[in-house]
Amino acid sequence: MSAELIFLIPLIWAALAGDEDRSTRFTFVFPSLERLTELFNIMDFKFCDGLLNVLQAPLPPPIQWFESLDAEHGIHDWAIYAMVLKKTGCSASDKLYIGSATASRRAVETRWYDYSRIYDTTPWNVVHAFKEGYTITSKVLLATCPLPAAGDVPTHRTVVLALEACFACCFWAMFYRDIGDRYYGFKQARIWPVDAFTYEGLCSHSPLREGHRGEVDIPKELLEKEAVRIHRKAIVYGKAYHDRQRLQKTEKFKAQQAGWNKRQRPRTQQLRHEAVAAKKFYCATCDYAGGDKDKLNQHEKTKRHKLRVKKAEMRDKAVAAAAPAPTEAHSTAHSTTQFTTHSVIHSALQSTTHVTVIMEETTAELKVL
Ligand SMILES: [Zn+2]
Repeated sequence: MSAELIFLIPLIWAALAGDEDRSTRFTFVFPSLERLTELFNIMDFKFCDGLLNVLQAPLPPPIQWFESLDAEHGIHDWAIYAMVLKKTGCSASDKLYIGSATASRRAVETRWYDYSRIYDTTPWNVVHAFKEGYTITSKVLLATCPLPAAGDVPTHRTVVLALEACFACCFWAMFYRDIGDRYYGFKQARIWPVDAFTYEGLCSHSPLREGHRGEVDIPKELLEKEAVRIHRKAIVYGKAYHDRQRLQKTEKFKAQQAGWNKRQRPRTQQLRHEAVAAKKFYCATCDYAGGDKDKLNQHEKTKRHKLRVKKAEMRDKAVAAAAPAPTEAHSTAHSTTQFTTHSVIHSALQSTTHVTVIMEETTAELKVL
């Protein structure tokens, strides 16, 4: 095994183990470090000159190192490549993109031809850099391997993606520098701190999170498990994104919300009517039915509702007090004062006027509060 692989395989394994959002294809194709190592041995990778020294240096390489690499050797093989983008006539940072070429024929040539203009497959950040005036000044090869037999394409492509992810992480070709929680799943596999790099990155996501695109014959249960995980993640991400937008209250967001609310109005009205009819958000004390939870919450904050609740409590107490007298054995335990209270309330209940008086006193008390 080459010295480069001895250095890289543990890094790739760390990247895989550290990314809980990695695609199931990786877990399925190499469930163990032994299998990953075995595949690398079969695939016969060749690496660019000086790679090991660069990876073991105390600081990451400057962009000039990538520009000095070979662009031709192995051009008909599969490859992990690097592209340097520059903008002439200004002091803007150079940019690095790392990708892989695994077409079944003329892989690298095909991929590089794709960059001769903007296609659907052109990475979004590269397209954006073109629009900012950047051009590709270098396209070089970091690692190559022979084209596999047709039956091995899915498995070997998965290995290439894992190696691409490792390079993108080591050389931090990722778009965000101020990463915060955006480690792209690479938290455990980085060699240098992200602020040590003198160029910017253009990769938008980790290749470890790319789906299998139907290439790998993954068991149904694993696919279903992955689908559930992705769905849950999308909900969490969508909610966090929405919350951020709501806090920032940009004009664009407000316009989007207004448009959405307008489109949804007939449906919202319909749901409110149904909720009222079904007494879904209902206050039994006031016999009030709201159209949604917000309406019920608002109702429960009104003085009128609070007053009625208080009156109902008083009424319940009075009814409880008017209940049949306790047994003799039990009544002997009551104090004289308690018997007196019972008697007063009992006689009050005989008269509507007295009950009203009690209620009015309660009302006055609530108003003061
Ligand atoms: Zn109420």
